[in-house]
Amino acid sequence: MHPETLKVSGEQLPYFRTSDFSEKMKEIECLIKKMTYAVEEDKVILLTTSGTGAMEATVINCFGTDDKLLVISGGSFGKRFCDICDVHGFDYDTISLEFGKALTSEELAKYSGRGYSGLLVNLDETSTGQLYDLEMLSAFCRSNDMLLVVDAISAFLADEIDFSKNNIDALIVSSQKALSLSPGLSIIELSKRMCERVNRSDPKSFYMDLKMYLRDMERGQTPFTPAVGIILELLDRLRMIEASGGVEHEIGLTRFRAEYFRSKIAGLPITLPEYRLSNAVTPIIFNNHNAYDIFEKLRKDYDLTVTPSGGELRDKVLRVSHIGNLKTEDYDALIDAFKKELKN
Ligand SMILES: *Cc1c(COP(=O)(O)O)cnc(C)c1O
Repeated sequence: MHPETLKVSGEQLPYFRTSDFSEKMKEIECLIKKMTYAVEEDKVILLTTSGTGAMEATVINCFGTDDKLLVISGGSFGKRFCDICDVHGFDYDTISLEFGKALTSEELAKYSGRGYSGLLVNLDETSTGQLYDLEMLSAFCRSNDMLLVVDAISAFLADEIDFSKNNIDALIVSSQKALSLSPGLSIIELSKRMCERVNRSDPKSFYMDLKMYLRDMERGQTPFTPAVGIILELLDRLRMIEASGGVEHEIGLTRFRAEYFRSKIAGLPITLPEYRLSNAVTPIIFNNHNAYDIFEKLRKDYDLTVTPSGGELRDKVLRVSHIGNLKTEDYDALIDAFKKELKN
């Protein structure tokens, strides 16, 4: 987290049913729209939940049991969209990708003309670091008259996202990734046609009925007590990004860290996957060592925390983050530790 955010999070929280707080909410909406290249009619909702809650809210408000969805499942976050559809009895097909496989236009083309109403995708499938081709997915949705739902939770501020140019209908962002705020707040941005759908929908949820959020956000409010503290962290962070060169500059910083780290690993007994990588994270595949043991060693002996993998990748893959307040020195320290630990 950035020191400025920690300062904001240490302050007293205000009462929030005030015009002062409403103005802050409207400023957040304005800055999020600017940073995602959204237009006037697009709407922003703030939801007090982790990213998964926002994924579920989006699915159940934007679609119903009479829709047929296509889910790209290339890792644990794609699988999560499938799990959400299962819980709610939604009809869907899955494009499943094994670890290491890129999503190709040939594969995608097989699903053309099959009557889907929407596509669900995690732009950066954070569990593998695969960055899907947004232009390709957007063109696919346009030619098949499908709504495009993009979970950009780890891609926002790491990879380029153009809400308008890419015809995105719902974009999901969460507080704890590149925004590097406290966890617990999510952002959903909706296109005009998706707002119309949401306003007609009848989701089987009281708390997550997004109609209420759209209505209340007109005056900068939320139906229920929001995570006031994280909202104040968010406004401060968005203002900071705006003041230091905007979203492109911020993405540039993330890209710089990713490229810096990736340029230093040559000669180490680790490899990178061959698919297109997000700037948010580098997945590293261990050839001769147990990835999980290395994760524990780094934490215990070097005070360095990288991200282990779950499931079948547990012993093979670790992920190195490029989001948050990280410096080149952090990567230097990590590379030094790898050099010592991966000698044989
Ligand atoms: C982190 C992340 C989520 C959110 O998970 P939560 O733990 O519910 O916040 C969802 N999708 C992607 C792609 C993520 O990286």
